[in-house]
Amino acid sequence: MAAVETGASERRLIRLTRKLSGRLSELRESVCEADGVPLSTDGTCKVCGRSRVPEPEVELERVHDGEPTEQERLQQKFRQRYAALLHERELEAQARAKAAEPVKLPKSRGERASEFLRGGQLVVRGD
Ligand SMILES: [Zn+2]
Repeated sequence: MAAVETGASERRLIRLTRKLSGRLSELRESVCEADGVPLSTDGTCKVCGRSRVPEPEVELERVHDGEPTEQERLQQKFRQRYAALLHERELEAQARAKAAEPVKLPKSRGERASEFLRGGQLVVRGD
């Protein structure tokens, strides 16, 4: 089963990507684009003499603006549906348990018949 992406893991991934991207840009800025040689300490290339102009930092697109992502909304809906399902099952189980309680059986024919007798004598005449 695939891992469930949460908002937290998404944020962690973005943080790591930023960090990695930062390291890459550091590395890139220390090497001449044309010659691929390390720049000297003053930022100029020993081969072509060009100096690198540091690029403005690119702001990555924000995933979260306080609003939950589509994935988080779906997960929230799923949790609500699941909780409702559990509640429903709980109620069903309770209903079943109640139904399983011993029920009072109707009186048998013999019991009903003996109500008409007192000391073996018929006291009420039925049709
Ligand atoms: Zn160069």
